Amino acid sequence: MRKAFIKTFGCQMNEADSELIASHFAQAGIETAESERDADVFVLNTCTVRQHAEDKALSLIGRLKRWKEEKKGRKIFVVGCAVERIGEKNMTKKFPFLDAVIGAKSIGKLGEEIKKTCGKTEKSEKKEHKNIVFEKRPFSQYLTIMRGCSMNCAYCVVPSVRGKAEHRPLEEIIEEARRKVASGARELVLLGQTVNSYCWTENGRKTDFTDLLKILSEIDKLKRIRFMSPHPLFFNDEFFKEFEKNKKIASHIHLPAQSGSDRILKIMKRGYTRKRYLDTLAKIKKTRQDSAVSTDFIVGFPDETKKDFEETLKLAQEGEFSLAFCFKYSARHCKESENIIPEKEKEERLNLLLETVKQASKRIFNSRIGKIEDVLLETENYGRSSANFKVRIDKHVAPGEMIKVGIEGVSKNILLGKVLK
Ligand code: SAH
Ligand code: SF4
Repeated sequence: MRKAFIKTFGCQMNEADSELIASHFAQAGIETAESERDADVFVLNTCTVRQHAEDKALSLIGRLKRWKEEKKGRKIFVVGCAVERIGEKNMTKKFPFLDAVIGAKSIGKLGEEIKKTCGKTEKSEKKEHKNIVFEKRPFSQYLTIMRGCSMNCAYCVVPSVRGKAEHRPLEEIIEEARRKVASGARELVLLGQTVNSYCWTENGRKTDFTDLLKILSEIDKLKRIRFMSPHPLFFNDEFFKEFEKNKKIASHIHLPAQSGSDRILKIMKRGYTRKRYLDTLAKIKKTRQDSAVSTDFIVGFPDETKKDFEETLKLAQEGEFSLAFCFKYSARHCKESENIIPEKEKEERLNLLLETVKQASKRIFNSRIGKIEDVLLETENYGRSSANFKVRIDKHVAPGEMIKVGIEGVSKNILLGKVLK
């Protein structure tokens, strides 16, 4: 049987899309390969959120020419956000040896392209893609609830490559959630660029993000719900009421800050001030005392002064983040007339921020010692706590079980604990 190897760059949305891509190939009778060596088809799902991600994809494509020549009949598919930004035609022109080139907005035509490029397989499986279980993450599975983004953050390419926000129909989400739980998922990770803006109206009935959390929590064997990435603007009192009483909602929230300076936040068009961000953060921590918050920061946004950057450093300290992803600003739109920050300065700011974040995160990890965490096991001796800390336990327990663990130590970015029951 022919096999496809799928390489994914970028965010969880891309990882979830790659699962869908795998299911399309499975429908055509082409199963997933563990490595490119065994594969007849190489699928590259690209990212373009920063130039570096795009460059990585382009350099890999260059190397793939050789892979294709090594075995007769090999095919290469390149799909996703970088293709959308560069343009399908430009990509094909640049790399004429590619067999299929599909931008993020046209991913719907993948099934057709597979048929066209790979032809019929002798043993085309009847298996509906709905029933395929992705063994890589059987206990914690992604569930995309919305695609695209309708915000307008000045630095961001997502709305242009993925299009405006489109929310999936409620029934479709519930059905997929049930199916995933029936196939073994004990945790669902709801995905969307502004996931907490979810809203679906049908027959005059409106279901918002909090309603969706309530509905999904009723699925019996589902033990935990996470979501990525919420936007600070879309949290409301209803959410916090539910967050307080519904312990199936994980106590970790990723709350992207981007900057600690009001001036920069305004130019970035994030829609909140430093104070509003900190208020939301405080509310999360007050509502669930065991909670942890992680974040994203961008340094060196055009016009960012030393003083602006210091505000970001201060926020990184005050915020007590368990984890923070820090990025150097990468220009995605050509029409830049602003005051560009030199690369060396960006690098220095990034290093300072990384060090601050590391120290804060160390404090947060150490503060978990002595606490009891609910851990969902992913392997026999590793799992994740509700607050999203990786936890190593002192004995073997069946993966998929939710157990109480007393935390006794920290080793690098892992909590070490003793199984309590
Ligand atoms: N929807 C999410 C973010 C998606 S992009 C949100 O609103 O938070 C993921 C992260 O990449 C962003 O949070 C941001 O920190 C970073 N990012 C996006 N565009 C960038 C750019 N042009 N340069 C550097 N980092 C960027
Ligand atoms: Fe980009 Fe997120 Fe802003 Fe949307 S909300 S434009 S995805 S950073």
